Amino acid sequence: MDDSSGLKPKELEFTLAAVSQFSSSSLSSSSSSSSSVIARFSADSGVAELRFHRDSEFIDGFNVDIGTSQLFKLGPVQSLCVSEISGAGKEKSYSRAVTIQFRNEDESRDFHSAFEQWQKDVIQGIHLPNGAIAASKSKFDYKIEPSSAKMYFHYYGQLLHQQNMLQDYVRTGTYYAAVIENRVDFTGRVVVDVGAGSGILSLFAAQAGAKHVYAVEASEMAEYARKLIAGNPALAQRITVIKGKVEEVELAEKADILISEPMGTLLVNERMLESYIIARDRFLVPNAKMFPSIGRIHMAPFSDEYLFVEIANKALFWQQQNYYGVDLTPLYGSAFQGYFSQPVVDAFDPRLLVSPPLCHVIDFNEIKEEDLFEIDIPLKFIASVGTRVHGLACWFDVLFNGSAVQRWLTTAPGAPTTHWYQIRCVLSQPIYVMAGQEITGRLHMIAHNAQSYTMYLSLSAKMWGPGAVQGGILQTASGKLDLKEPYYRMSQPQSYTMAQDQQPQQLLQAQAIPIHTEDLDEAELLQQPSENTGPQLQ
Ligand code: SAH
Repeated sequence: MDDSSGLKPKELEFTLAAVSQFSSSSLSSSSSSSSSVIARFSADSGVAELRFHRDSEFIDGFNVDIGTSQLFKLGPVQSLCVSEISGAGKEKSYSRAVTIQFRNEDESRDFHSAFEQWQKDVIQGIHLPNGAIAASKSKFDYKIEPSSAKMYFHYYGQLLHQQNMLQDYVRTGTYYAAVIENRVDFTGRVVVDVGAGSGILSLFAAQAGAKHVYAVEASEMAEYARKLIAGNPALAQRITVIKGKVEEVELAEKADILISEPMGTLLVNERMLESYIIARDRFLVPNAKMFPSIGRIHMAPFSDEYLFVEIANKALFWQQQNYYGVDLTPLYGSAFQGYFSQPVVDAFDPRLLVSPPLCHVIDFNEIKEEDLFEIDIPLKFIASVGTRVHGLACWFDVLFNGSAVQRWLTTAPGAPTTHWYQIRCVLSQPIYVMAGQEITGRLHMIAHNAQSYTMYLSLSAKMWGPGAVQGGILQTASGKLDLKEPYYRMSQPQSYTMAQDQQPQQLLQAQAIPIHTEDLDEAELLQQPSENTGPQLQ
């Protein structure tokens, strides 16, 4: 988090017994009994570094970039500091290690905690005396695997994927309405567009009278955004496109409003909400507005025999004992598990839901970045019907809490379809429930460095029927899924194809049956035809 109090870490010095450089070929000692060695933590050069001095002389070749180093304890008074030295190209990079000898255990312990503190500060951005941020890996780089980030920004750098989002009229139309109807929030204000893509939301903000919009976009799309904005000269003079990550770029001034479309499948996929939160902390004045300001994940158990059989059958291929003379069955179990680890993405009929949904609220104004690293949701439902439960259906909505008009963008089943559709986590073991029976469970999601989440789902219901001891045995089904690897089921016949053609009003009536009266504010739903676009990230 940006530390606006301007605190800077104290420069620290440690007197060491010795320091030596460890390399694959030799161990050259720079220790000397006559003079002591000083280890000094500093950010003088704009990089957080550990430097070594003897007799006030800087020991060349021993400086360590704290941001990219690791410190290991070899013994009570000896440690090894390994840093990465990057050469031209990844293959030319290598590691260098410095062995540090302390005078006693206390000093060793203090040194380790100082090192840890500095490393934390580097991740958060060390404030140098001139107010700049020390050049170091950004929060984004620390969390995200470079190969994932590369593919991600490559994807968004292509116009076809931006077009896909623009053509989701429910999405783009709701943003447009939310901005234009709330001119009062934009007129004369400084706006930051987090992940501007084609620049569309920046253009909307400028149309709504923003004084200035900073459109921050990390992918190559930033160039196209410049072109698009330049082609709209009436708005262009009030928009500046900044190419870079919101975690890294600097803005000339603080902003009054953040606008962004950071939602992925199940709201949190892509981990862009964290960037939205980081942008909030870095760029906004106190009491600023966020568009959107709240996100909700909705969940309910569902019953869908066709879907269950379809997934289970996919693994049947591996049941063959004579595939060109080869027995494939050793891999059947793994294949079966693999198919059930994919969340299913499609638009389903809300009548498949077995109980009213629960919701988990994420308040973008309040939440801390770290709160999104692990999301743990206890589940408790009451079955409306007696049926077989095949898993958990999930969708999300976000709120634009404008001063004039409040508007929800919903991806609920039965509402006009968006390019996010809905997702369903299918369990390999269905559970049986009676009407009125309680279903409990847990959805535990842990963020991973490929910009998504590992999901652990469990659902339980008490056994019933003649064989079950009253109040006794639980049926439990659980599964582990990777939100990064969804199964897009759009090519299959859809259970709710009518959704594409129906008027929203009809739809709302049709789905008034068992679900989410508390989730859908009918008046808020945008009266826009839906558009069914292909699978994509956002
Ligand atoms: N605002 C546009 C695009 C939304 S898609 C619209 O509504 O149509 C999200 C965009 O955010 C992508 O173009 C992606 O490249 C960008 N993005 C994601 N993470 C980012 C980050 N950390 N810094 C800057 N841009 C980011």
